[in-house]
Amino acid sequence: MLDCTPKEVIKRSGGLINPAKTCQPIGAMYAALGIHNCLPHSHGSQGCCAYHRSHLTRHFREPVMATTSSFTEGASVFGGGANLKTAIKNVFDIYNPDVMAVHTTCLSETIGDDISTIIKSAEVPEGKVVIHANTPSYQGSHITGFSNMVKGMVEYLARADTDGKKEQVNIIPGFVDPGDMREIKRLVGKMGIKFIMFPDTSGVMDSPMTGKFDMFPAGGAQVEDIRDAGNSSLTMALGYYASSTPANLLERNCRVPAITLKTPIGIKATDDFLMTLRSKFTLEIPYELEEERGQLVDVMTDTHHHFYDKKVAIFGDPDILTGLTEFVLSLGMQPVHVLTGTPSGTLGGPQGIFEKEINEMLAAARLEGRVKAAGDLFELHQWIKNEPVDLLMGNTYGKYIARAEDIPFVRVGFPILDRSTHPYLPIVGYRGALRLVEMISNALLDRQDRDAADEDLELVM
Ligand code: SF4
Repeated sequence: MLDCTPKEVIKRSGGLINPAKTCQPIGAMYAALGIHNCLPHSHGSQGCCAYHRSHLTRHFREPVMATTSSFTEGASVFGGGANLKTAIKNVFDIYNPDVMAVHTTCLSETIGDDISTIIKSAEVPEGKVVIHANTPSYQGSHITGFSNMVKGMVEYLARADTDGKKEQVNIIPGFVDPGDMREIKRLVGKMGIKFIMFPDTSGVMDSPMTGKFDMFPAGGAQVEDIRDAGNSSLTMALGYYASSTPANLLERNCRVPAITLKTPIGIKATDDFLMTLRSKFTLEIPYELEEERGQLVDVMTDTHHHFYDKKVAIFGDPDILTGLTEFVLSLGMQPVHVLTGTPSGTLGGPQGIFEKEINEMLAAARLEGRVKAAGDLFELHQWIKNEPVDLLMGNTYGKYIARAEDIPFVRVGFPILDRSTHPYLPIVGYRGALRLVEMISNALLDRQDRDAADEDLELVM
């Protein structure tokens, strides 16, 4: 394993070592699973599709159904049009989904297959739909792929076909676990607002054990609801990177005003989410949610002395990081290293906004830190060697740094491959924030307990 001398950061002009992201189609496949009766389809080789399915299965511990165009040498040279047309026919003949969601891969993007033209000339049965997203993995990350597939849902499905707008809100939840989607739906439901969430992987990627296999589990956003999203009076995009582009497209196509907020992680982002709903729909926040907030404030006050001044390094997906950074700041911690593998800005959007947003949060708390988009875990490890931290937060791959540097570690984000249960339990909302407080406390206090036990042992010896 490569190592570096503390106080030196190895300069690289290209290449990533242990990327803090994965490839676009994984996000597109996950988004497509959030439509009810939808079969994701990978337009490329079988190896890509197998990797994407297994990666999602390892995080969610659920079977992930998806088909592939099964490219071989012929398709690689002459294009994959014939493979995709055959696949469309076979998928509807054999599996009969309502929607087939095609995403591309590096190979089909390099060939330059024109997917919309191929779909138009394919045999699609009456009443069925084929949507698509271009997801070249040499750009962006799985978050870009998620955003592109949700954009495809808007392009192909959403329609403005009523005279006025309906008193309902579209929620685009971003790349979060099904437990988070359930919690966001619970919060909006408590506010008494009619809503359409898409994609919605609850009931699909956290489906119950029934003793029989369901090719298409009961959950997911209904196609007619996504169509009706064009008639809503507001779209709330939760997370700039995963959700703002489809929300803005819906605004352009169907004149549904779009608001982009942070993923509601932590007390402030959850407040912003609920207060926006309150002001847009002229409603009061129910007492039950006020009570949950009050309980969170109580716990944060009770535990503040555990967190105060503790240095923390956080890595993962940008929408999760903006919420997490804000939350650990509100706990009195110092996020000194914040790194995402996803490039800053949406594709075609302003660049450098990730660094700007995090640096503004740090400046408001009179702190300074290292912040980077399109970084990798090798670089994060070097930062930690140069400026050690009391806590590391991020996905499964952080455990190697945590082990090497003997740092308490909280698993949060995607992917978490070596633990279970996380897809069911939220980190969003006030309840999710309580869970984060518990996870951080346990990690820090376990370390303190261990250190105290070591000291006791030394005294005895
Ligand atoms: S070839 Fe591209 S799409 Fe396929 S697994 Fe690799 S990065 Fe992902």
